[in-house]
Amino acid sequence: MSLIVQKYGGTSVGDVERIKNVARRAIAAKKAGHQVVVVVSAMSGETNRLLKLVHGISERPNEREQDVVVATGEQVTIGLTSIAIDAQGGKARSFMGHQCRIVTDSTFSKARIKRIDADGIFEALKKGEIAVIAGFQGVDEEGNVTTLGRGGSDTTAVAIAAAIKADACEIYTDVDGVYTTDPNVAPKARKLDRISYEEMLELASLGAKVLQIRSVEIAMKFKVPLWVKSSFSDDPGTLVCEEDEEMEDILVSGVALDRNEARVSVRDVPDQPGMAAKIFGALDERAISVDLIVQNTPVKGKTDLTFTVGKADLLKTQDVMKKVVKQLKAGPVEVDDQCAKVSIVGVGMRTHSGVAARMFKTLSAEGVNILAISTSEIRVSCLIPGKYAELAVRALHSEFGLDTKA
Ligand code: ADP
Ligand code: ASP
Ligand code: MG
Repeated sequence: MSLIVQKYGGTSVGDVERIKNVARRAIAAKKAGHQVVVVVSAMSGETNRLLKLVHGISERPNEREQDVVVATGEQVTIGLTSIAIDAQGGKARSFMGHQCRIVTDSTFSKARIKRIDADGIFEALKKGEIAVIAGFQGVDEEGNVTTLGRGGSDTTAVAIAAAIKADACEIYTDVDGVYTTDPNVAPKARKLDRISYEEMLELASLGAKVLQIRSVEIAMKFKVPLWVKSSFSDDPGTLVCEEDEEMEDILVSGVALDRNEARVSVRDVPDQPGMAAKIFGALDERAISVDLIVQNTPVKGKTDLTFTVGKADLLKTQDVMKKVVKQLKAGPVEVDDQCAKVSIVGVGMRTHSGVAARMFKTLSAEGVNILAISTSEIRVSCLIPGKYAELAVRALHSEFGLDTKA
């Protein structure tokens, strides 16, 4: 008998019929002889609806209370899914984050999991029940409700799989696997049978929201075999696993697009030691993560510093920067929330050169201006004006030979 964790995303539990479908699938897995843990997200659109209610009241809501509101979406789906399993003759028990218990730190809206006390889950499994767990939510040491960041149910599922030493973690979503790029942006995207943890980590961190980045980090660390599958078909999906030799022959495995970053430029920063430390230290104090960073060559003792942050953190960033520029006697701060980041990823880049140059040439041939660049061993990212985002993805997908053969 094997132990499996199945996670169903928002679209897969989007209405009552779909919830019944999830129940059918979970019961089928149980009947096939497995012990089954189901993790569910809120119904699609629900988390956005809850956030809109919050922001209708305050632009800068109390973060603890915001989590109290947005965590409710998943409470509804665990109850409904358990009722559906029951109605179809199965046995189920629902668990909220604090009942599991998924203990996190206290960084509201992007809390990190510290540990999972899985006794309750094991108890339910021992009784032959399907454990149905709320994704996305946890509880801190003081008992406050926390949430794990957008897309956080993936992380709940993989963390639980690691904690209970599951034989597999299956992420059910609205596409039938991981593609070379978002299939909803590039119709020529190709489904991958396998992808390495590392490449998936890069793709996820670059905005391929099919898996939340932290879920991939945990899967890689604890070697959880991770599948991405469709809840609407029986396609075997994509296996996220350890890298093998065959994978290195492929130069670029995927292209990612992220529209969720905003660009912030600080003009006239005095060219002295410690300036960057002060700016990024102040952002870090408010738990704002910074992505791309570019510093211009100084002219007359002053320089410009450009970086990107998540759009959700832009207002907080502007508040922080207002204070910091005053302290540093730096110049005006400009923001641009109409940019996009396109990236190419592949473990093959380790052994081949000239990939970045080919990317820049492709973008330039399409008339796309590059605003900032960053690279890692297996990735190149370019920040570009948002209106060119889809064009850039399709051009790069074609250039690196990823298009499906027509
Ligand atoms: P869920 O609600 O099931 O968690 P998400 O909307 O979070 O689903 O993630 C699935 C979506 O991820 C797909 O509908 C697709 O548009 C998007 N996506 C982005 N990049 C990729 C990729 N490389 N492969 C597959 N899907 C991708
Ligand atoms: N419901 C949460 C969200 O929309 C978590 C998830 O779907 O994974 O971000
Ligand atoms: Mg998701």
